Amino acid sequence: MPGSVMIADMSWTDYQRRIEQDFPVVLLPIGSLEQHGPHSPLGSDEILTRLIANAVAVSVDGLVAPSISYGCRSQPRTGGGWHFSGTTSIEGRTLMLLVRDILQEFGRHGVRKIAVLDTHFENEWFVIEGIEEALKEMRRDEVDGMKIVKFRYFEFITPGTLGRVFPDGFPGWALEHAGVMTTSLHLYLTPELVDMSKAPLHGVIEYPPYDVFPFDPNAGTRSGSLNSPVSASAESGKLIFDEVVAALTAAIQSEFGNRNKD
Ligand SMILES: [Zn+2]
Repeated sequence: MPGSVMIADMSWTDYQRRIEQDFPVVLLPIGSLEQHGPHSPLGSDEILTRLIANAVAVSVDGLVAPSISYGCRSQPRTGGGWHFSGTTSIEGRTLMLLVRDILQEFGRHGVRKIAVLDTHFENEWFVIEGIEEALKEMRRDEVDGMKIVKFRYFEFITPGTLGRVFPDGFPGWALEHAGVMTTSLHLYLTPELVDMSKAPLHGVIEYPPYDVFPFDPNAGTRSGSLNSPVSASAESGKLIFDEVVAALTAAIQSEFGNRNKD
């Protein structure tokens, strides 16, 4: 598709020309297929990350790679747990190898600026391991000048915005699974995927400050949310989205240079 920022929409010749002439930043969204409460979609992590990546790519004249749409085992204290129907987890080593292989291939194409956007908590260290392994392999293959920056978009939300979105106090990112922030983003970006009549009304789910294996599915959230999303709104979603896209754009320009060939 002419003008698309999505690599998957481009012909190989158009892609090659962009990479060799413009040296664009390539953004790789990583999410999960994981329950996000009875009111929002299983693909929430991937959908929101991809839509943010698309907007940032337009701002920085970058390209968006197809997402990694499956994530590592959902944990009770950060994602509700692996036991919900629909939650489809991959092993950490599988994700690590996926990240490594994809990044190495971009290196072979001539890409030297990569922004990894990962949103699923349980992925984090396997994504980092995949990045480190890719860099090690590329050094061995004498691929010079590769730079990879890893982002979690929610870390760009300022205290001022948190204060407006959570007037009764911010519960912390781990408890925001299928909560006010992600539901607000969906209400703004993909309202057709949200049914607020099914939003759980319970308060914050309390867990002890440790993890038990094997996990008892009866001990955690029954709805899948870790906090009620009822105060979510499209207005909050727009506030968060605009702030995050502007901040990610600035961070990518700062790390990779304003002009494409920097
Ligand atoms: Zn997740």
